[in-house]
Formats: sequence, structure tokens, C-alpha cells
Amino acid sequence: MKYHLRCALALGVLLAALILPADAAGRVNLTPDNGYTADYGIELPFTPSPRTADYTFEVFRGENTSQPPLVRAQASLSGGVTQTLYLPLAFDLEHAERYTIRVTAQPDARRAGLDTEDSRTFPYTTQYCGGRHTEAQGGYLLGDGSAGNPYVIQNAKQLSHVREHPGSYFRQNVDIDLSSWGNWTPIDADGINYDGCGHYVWNLTSTGHSSGNALFGNLTNSTLRRFGVNTFTCTGGEYDAGLIRAASNVTLDQCLAANGTTRANVCSGGLFATAVGVTVRDSFSSSCSIYAKTANAGGLSGNFTGSLARCYAINTVAGEDSLGGISGHGTYASAFQNVYWETGRGAGSAVQEWWSSDSPSSVIWNYNPPGTFAKPAAEMTVQSTYQGFAFANVTGPYNPAKPWVWEPNQNHPLLHIFYRPEELG
Ligand SMILES: [Zn+2]
Repeated sequence: MKYHLRCALALGVLLAALILPADAAGRVNLTPDNGYTADYGIELPFTPSPRTADYTFEVFRGENTSQPPLVRAQASLSGGVTQTLYLPLAFDLEHAERYTIRVTAQPDARRAGLDTEDSRTFPYTTQYCGGRHTEAQGGYLLGDGSAGNPYVIQNAKQLSHVREHPGSYFRQNVDIDLSSWGNWTPIDADGINYDGCGHYVWNLTSTGHSSGNALFGNLTNSTLRRFGVNTFTCTGGEYDAGLIRAASNVTLDQCLAANGTTRANVCSGGLFATAVGVTVRDSFSSSCSIYAKTANAGGLSGNFTGSLARCYAINTVAGEDSLGGISGHGTYASAFQNVYWETGRGAGSAVQEWWSSDSPSSVIWNYNPPGTFAKPAAEMTVQSTYQGFAFANVTGPYNPAKPWVWEPNQNHPLLHIFYRPEELG
């Protein structure tokens, strides 16, 4: 996959000797001949001249074209119609940068002596969100938010900026430490697709927002993948959690919330405070202290309707009522497959208050749904407990079909992608 910015470069020059292979979108990928490589780059619309096909493209940092170019590529381009060229360029993902692009046309051999080599230079500055937002707003420098070209998140401001782009695709390129951020306002978002690529958000503090506190607030119709919140304090709201305050029609895949504290009034859990219509695969929450004052504290969620497959919770839960190893409150419209929770941490069952139908009179207390398994600490620290979990070798390549690893120095399953995060170079 290539990531790119669009560069508005209007060129009406030359011709082509070498037609480079184009990708499915009709883009011509230029390969630098000066050894330069990058996992992303820029696009240049370019119209070859009818008089020649041979071009050299050079990219210089700043305005000084007397220095050696950062990138140099040659191309043979014919057709006389505007084409989109792709040049690898590892520009800064946090701050806009200025470049100069120089295009040199070499004369066609048949016109030697008639035409001479000619160059044109163009200033080029990378832009936040295609010019729509600023650095101060947390704008993105790479990507357009589409599935094939997601916005790339490189820092805390850009993480917070997710809320400005509903319906977009994102990938997180590095771990993000929020320890100097202050009080985090949960991200409300609809229709997003977020791939953490095996990166964490560290040291989240979200406190005192009355509706609730978490990394995400109201998250609807969205997917989170390969994403973890590690070390968090989310307290002082009606609904507090590590990852999502209120999830509706959300899919989690290979996500975690670990080493945290919640302290809510009504609903609290490691992954969710409340979750409706969610699908969760290969995810966990561990080493958290989950508290909901009046009701609904659970290892994974305070309130839960949805499906869980290959998940576990090793969390302490507390509060006046409805404490669950998995969820404090849950409903019949749920399905569980190989879901484990550790006993002896405040809960007496997977779900304390279970509605077996929509009627409040259908409550089953202290319920253990099929597919859930209560295990003491002595068993939660043994790999063979986790039936159905697909384990890979931690030193091997990441394979999404085997998302788990078992490290001898750890005492519960971990997610392989966090040992093999995917970063743009
Ligand atoms: Zn933006």
C-alpha cells in the first residue's frame, strides 16, 4: 500500500522514452535512481510535452537546488495527456515542510541540436488535511482518510483530531504518550475505521467529564483494530472506561485496555462502560481497578450486549451492585466464545444482572453465559487455559490469523502485533 499527498503541479512539458508500470489507479510509480526509498510519497500531476519523452524529477529540501537532491528519478513519459506520477518522499508527518521540485526535460534524440535541455522548478509545501486544517488543530499531513490512503496519526494532537473527521480511515504510526496532555476529552466519532497498527496510547488521564471518561466517548458504527490503551485514569463520570465510554455497532479486533483505574457513578469497565451491538475479537483488559458506585462494574464492560470471541479479563471490580467478571449487566442478545475471566477479584459471576429477554422481569442474577469461563489466577497464568486462542511465535512474522503470543515472562496472553508494530518508514 502506498500513501500519498496530492501535489498541485501544473506542468506542460515533454515526452517519454520509458513508460513506467502504472498501478491499478493508472498512477505511474517513479523509482529513484539515487538509492532513495520511503514507504510513502507524493503525487504529481504531469503532462508530458509532445516534443520529448525523457524527464528527470528531483526533490530538494527547502529552496536550495544547488545541494544534491533528496530524491532523483528518471522517467520516459509519452502520450501528451496528464498523468499522475508518484515519487517516494518521507516528509515529516507532524510539521509541514517546504520542498522544491525540479523537472528537467531532455531533448528527443531526433531533435538533438534543435531542442535543448530545459528545467522548471516548483515550490511544494506539505499541507494539513489537504489545506483544510492547521497544525494547531492537529491536522494530518499524510493520507486523505480513504480506505486505501488513511490519515496517519503521529502525535497526540492528531489523535485528538480524529473527532473532526467522521467517516474516515486512520492509522496510528507510533506509540503516543499523553502524560503531558492534561485532561483528555473523550473522542466522539461516527463511522471511523481506526488501525492502531500495534501501537499504544500511554498515560491517558480523562477525568470529570460528567457524561463519562475514556479515550473514546460516544463511538458508533466504527471499527478499532490493533489498538491499546496502556496505563490510564478515567474517573468522575457517569460512565468511565479505558477505551470507549459508549459503543454502539462497534467492532474491536486485537485491542486492549491495561493498567488502569476507572471510577464511575453508573457503568464502568476495562474496554467499555456501556456497549450495545458490539463485536469483539481477540481482545482483553488486565491489571485494572474498575469501580462503579451504584451499579454495573465489569472486567470488560459495565453494560454489554454483543459478541465476544477469544477475549479475557483480569481486573478487579467493585461497587454497590451488579459486578461481573465480564460485564456487570448484560442481555440475551449476546454471544460468547472462549471468554475467560479471573475469579477472586470482586465478581461472583461473568454477568451479575442478566436480562434473558427485553422484560425487566426476566432478570437472571449471577449468570454465567455459555462460552464464558471463570478461572482462578492459578489457571489464568497457564497458556492451555485459553482454548481457541491462536498463538504465534513471538519472534516470527505477524500473522493476523494467529494474533496471540505467550511470553514465558508474562502470565497471560498478549497480542503479537504489539511486538511487531507496523510503521511507515
Ligand atoms: Zn483535519
